[in-house]
Amino acid sequence: MSRVLVTGAAGFLGSYLCDSLLSDGYEVIGMDNRVSGRTENLDNAFGHDRFTFYEHDVTEFIHVNGELDAVLHLASLASPVFYREHPIKTLKVGALGTHKTLGLAKEKDATYLFTSTSEVYGDPEVNPQPEDYRGNVDPYGPRSCYDESKRYGESLVRAYRDQHDLDVRVARIFNTYGPRMRIDDGRVIPNFMRQALTGEDLTVYGDGEQTRSFCYVSDMIDGLLALLESEVQDPVNIGNPDERTINELAEVVLEVTGSESGITYEELPPQDPKVRRPDIKKARAELGWEPGTTLREGLQRSIEYFEEQV
Ligand code: NAD
Ligand code: UDP
Repeated sequence: MSRVLVTGAAGFLGSYLCDSLLSDGYEVIGMDNRVSGRTENLDNAFGHDRFTFYEHDVTEFIHVNGELDAVLHLASLASPVFYREHPIKTLKVGALGTHKTLGLAKEKDATYLFTSTSEVYGDPEVNPQPEDYRGNVDPYGPRSCYDESKRYGESLVRAYRDQHDLDVRVARIFNTYGPRMRIDDGRVIPNFMRQALTGEDLTVYGDGEQTRSFCYVSDMIDGLLALLESEVQDPVNIGNPDERTINELAEVVLEVTGSESGITYEELPPQDPKVRRPDIKKARAELGWEPGTTLREGLQRSIEYFEEQV
């Protein structure tokens, strides 16, 4: 593989993926409409002569000159705060954007990687979640614009594989964090870091006993690249199985930042999943991948960035 398209390139994960692909010698075309992304995330990539950027909405027809070996589709609204604000855009990028990028991959005979999500499991009734768990999603619920567009996206990927023999990969990504997340992203780690660093109270939603499992960004990028380089055509969970309550997360953030902030309890958003933890047996066995960064280390590595942002 040598020439790849990354959609959502100006976002958090997309920009790191571009950087890694460029250091591995790939020619990278980044595409983004900057609805939530920022081109400053691509400062490093722009320094490479093997990098090109197209500002384009992937729900519209996509034209790319020349050959492509892979299409990596990361474009999406990804934070619950953003996708609740833009439910139609979220549905369109998961459905139409996935369709357009699959069509491009078929035209170019390129390997296709879809970034799905742990949200396909909804509010899970089994913990941890293995890939064969079918999920508990409310199709008319407040998170459905995201959950259902990703579930539909997976189904489209499966259809292109079956009907057109497209070479596909499906990553089910679990909560990931690190530098380059927007400070106003609304997800829990940017919120807690901003609050801890400015001396505001940390806002814990609900009783804080709901759980998430947080993966540091460099581990996630290694996992995505391992999946791309594998021959695994079925969905694979990529995430860190170190499950924490949100109360525990708040304590760790206060400790690593040395902050004296307190904690305020606020209303839980409707249908907030109660537990989430990836079963990563498949990733370990078939990709030879597992995360290596602890929560404490990952947060420590992120402090400098969040300090600059506040
Ligand atoms: P992000 O918001 O930082 O990046 C997504 C990028 O997609 C943004 O730059 C945005 O401008 C772009 N985009 C959105 N709609 C577009 C459109 N129609 N055309 C072109 N560009 C568009 O999000 P992220 O955290 O980097 O997530 C990347 C991918 O991984 C997403 O598909 C997301 O659903 C998935 N994912 C992320 C997480 C996580 O914890 N970060 C968890 C599960 C799944
Ligand atoms: N959360 C919180 N305080 C915040 C932001 C989020 O307690 O300031 C909670 C949220 O209700 C959820 C968890 O943290 O239970 C993770 O939320 P996030 O928005 O990061 O992503 P999700 O995993 O829900 O997609």
